[in-house]
Amino acid sequence: MTRDPEDDEAVPIILFQADHRFDLDRAALQKILLKDEIKDRHVVVLSVAGAFRKGKSFILDFFLRYMYCAYGDQTSSTSPSAAQWMGPTDKPLEGFSWRGGSERDTAGILVWSKVFLSRLKSGEEVAILILDTQGTFDSESTMRDSATVFALSTMISSIQVYNLSQNIQEDDLQHLQLFTEYGRIATEQAGTTPFQRLVFLVRDWSYPYEADYGEKGGQKILQKRLRVIANQHPELQSIRRHIKSCFSDISCFLMPHPGLKVATNPRFDGRLADIEDDFKTQLHRLAGMLLSPENLIVKEIGGQKVKAKDLLQYFDTYLAVYSG
Ligand code: GDP
Ligand code: MG
Repeated sequence: MTRDPEDDEAVPIILFQADHRFDLDRAALQKILLKDEIKDRHVVVLSVAGAFRKGKSFILDFFLRYMYCAYGDQTSSTSPSAAQWMGPTDKPLEGFSWRGGSERDTAGILVWSKVFLSRLKSGEEVAILILDTQGTFDSESTMRDSATVFALSTMISSIQVYNLSQNIQEDDLQHLQLFTEYGRIATEQAGTTPFQRLVFLVRDWSYPYEADYGEKGGQKILQKRLRVIANQHPELQSIRRHIKSCFSDISCFLMPHPGLKVATNPRFDGRLADIEDDFKTQLHRLAGMLLSPENLIVKEIGGQKVKAKDLLQYFDTYLAVYSG
């Protein structure tokens, strides 16, 4: 199955206004979630969040290619090969809009209008939603908007990808603590971990001799960064404990640099031919790790699986917390 150019598009569901208030487009969300074949299914929600212009939409558009290939035909339960899903080498990359020059996107959350359907090994039929987020992080007010976007997308997703440039820095952890603190308050439920899977996605990793690209190297770096040690400043310890207590599963993936054409050529249109092989190899692993049928994670809130039609109500509840 390929993208339907008429119907398949990025739909903004939460957008910040100039005065930093935000609106939920309920009608747009209803149109997507309340379709007959979708509304009663449990949902899997993948989101990618993090600072502006670090390749979030770019990588999501590859994830969409994976999704169309893997879940176009409902009966398939195996992960496609790289050659199958990545497609022709000269095809421009489409989907959520990426690059955008120096022009700035407003903070918000977008959902891909096409919801993918799959049957898990257990026989359970699920609907898979893909979310893109936009944040800026450059002034105090946009920082607050971005924290809200991050918190909301974390609450709504079952798989949150935290997209970072070059490394996991102390301030990335601080931001994460702030973002999840907002979310934790909104979802507080006795005895359950508030969120599910968190994946630190480090872009342009340039120390493969220190830790290999991919998940294994990521695990090594993550262990180092999240370690709580005796003589560490109490604040650093508390940040680490907080992050670990918020997610039931935390992992890390180290991506190589995609090459100079991707990073600097204004005429680059996303075609595979212009992307380094190392990047493509790891991209295939990453897509499988996040989205292959056996790795899908159904969204749970307070220990209960969430159906598509219920997601709407959660958006309302969470938004009320932030607007209050
Ligand atoms: P977003 O704001 O995080 O969604 O960023 P975009 O996906 O719009 O990408 C911003 C720019 O980064 C584009 O010009 C891409 O070509 C480039 N880009 C995409 N992926 C990478 C990457 O892994 N490393 C580098 N250095 N640049 C990338
Ligand atoms: Mg973007």
